[in-house]
Amino acid sequence: MKFQSINFTCDSCGAPLRYSPATVSLQCEFCSTTKVISSSNEPIEEYDFKSALNFLDKNSSQEINKDITCNKCAANFQLTPYSISANCPYCNTPAITDFVKEITPKSLLPFELTHDEAQEKFKKWIGSLWFAPSRLKDFIEGEKKLQGYYLPHWTYDSETQTRYKGQRGVIYYVMVEKTVTIEGRQRRVRQREARIHWSPVRGVVYNSFDDITIGASKSISHSILNHLTPWDTTRLIPFDERYLAGFKAEEYTIGLDNAFEYAKMKMTPTIKQDIHRDIGGDKQRIDEMETTYSHTTYKNVLFPIWTAQFRWKEKEYNYAINAQTGKIVGERPYSTLKITLLVLLIFLSLGGIFYLQERYNQGNISYPSVIFNTLSIRL
Ligand SMILES: [Zn+2]
Ligand SMILES: [Zn+2]
Repeated sequence: MKFQSINFTCDSCGAPLRYSPATVSLQCEFCSTTKVISSSNEPIEEYDFKSALNFLDKNSSQEINKDITCNKCAANFQLTPYSISANCPYCNTPAITDFVKEITPKSLLPFELTHDEAQEKFKKWIGSLWFAPSRLKDFIEGEKKLQGYYLPHWTYDSETQTRYKGQRGVIYYVMVEKTVTIEGRQRRVRQREARIHWSPVRGVVYNSFDDITIGASKSISHSILNHLTPWDTTRLIPFDERYLAGFKAEEYTIGLDNAFEYAKMKMTPTIKQDIHRDIGGDKQRIDEMETTYSHTTYKNVLFPIWTAQFRWKEKEYNYAINAQTGKIVGERPYSTLKITLLVLLIFLSLGGIFYLQERYNQGNISYPSVIFNTLSIRL
């Protein structure tokens, strides 16, 4: 299907403008003219979850490939169904196009980390990794550039009410008689031993959650997206295409309802903690719990992420950087040689400890020198 695309051009030379995190403005890459993005004071709204689900039930979107004509070089190219911003594959001019999903982002966090800052962070990270292959660092230097993505996320607020059944454990002590062996002789002794007394309890706990964020894109693995949190959502600003210029951006591919199931999983540990506190006593057990979610609201937002893949020995590794906070998350290769050497070293020093321990037991050596010897083996 044919789609219109927009891009922003330089008033002085007509070249395409891109959003620059360094100057928080649109910037011309040829004549360096900048165009300030006027900030908006519009409040960031929350939307009702239930009515959105009802609406989505009646309006289902189809997957459409978006055919685009470049505004600069007139080349035709196609965007993947969920892509809303990309650069022309021929002349690299930014192309921003319409959303097809029923729910569109109303707010976003702009890129704060520049490409160079992100690249620098990544190099440091690779350098700090233990057991990474030594040649990896040199290899990464020559690798292709990081890609900047605005990836869709859902945020949820919810009031929860959880009924539970469980058990409260109270520790008490008893004296028991036991047979123990002391210096090769059996003796009867009395000892204090801990016991737990369990009694059934039930109750209700209430929680209130604010901005539980769930990644709504399948372009980056869920485990990586999850680890890029937290995002400072108090700094969300109203959606504005100009922040997308030059970056890739996507629509959600994980729906409002599915993502809420992930959000529930993220709420569970907090609820369980509260139940434990509510049960009291020394030990707690939860046998059953049932949660109802009310006043649930959501936002569809775009978060900025720098990402890249690198291939190392026939395997692909992904990594990503939170372009708001600079947090970096990634998969990484391990050097089998370095690990084997360390394991060998541990075995050797353990062997050393056992050997010296034997000699110490035989009275041939004093303890401080045992420790000293072990240390020198490890070093
Ligand atoms: Zn210009
Ligand atoms: Zn083009």
